[in-house]
Amino acid sequence: MSLTFILKCNNCNGLFLASAQQKTKTCPYCGTRLNINRCQKLAHSENVFEASEILRKLKSTQKSNLKQPIQKYLSKKQIS
Ligand SMILES: [Zn+2]
Repeated sequence: MSLTFILKCNNCNGLFLASAQQKTKTCPYCGTRLNINRCQKLAHSENVFEASEILRKLKSTQKSNLKQPIQKYLSKKQIS
């Protein structure tokens, strides 16, 4: 059974999953190639489904900390 880490991107602070067997991972948000050993590991799990669940919770916590709902709302309005 392999570990799945919840990592934080050094460049954009985005959260994503990576297998412990991987040495590098490209950030899905900013495209930066990251060395997993140098990334901040927020959590880990032996179960990939549990890991994605933890990731989801961490993301919602991170979102509420950003406090930018108004800006998001405005940019959506402009597109439509
Ligand atoms: Zn990133």
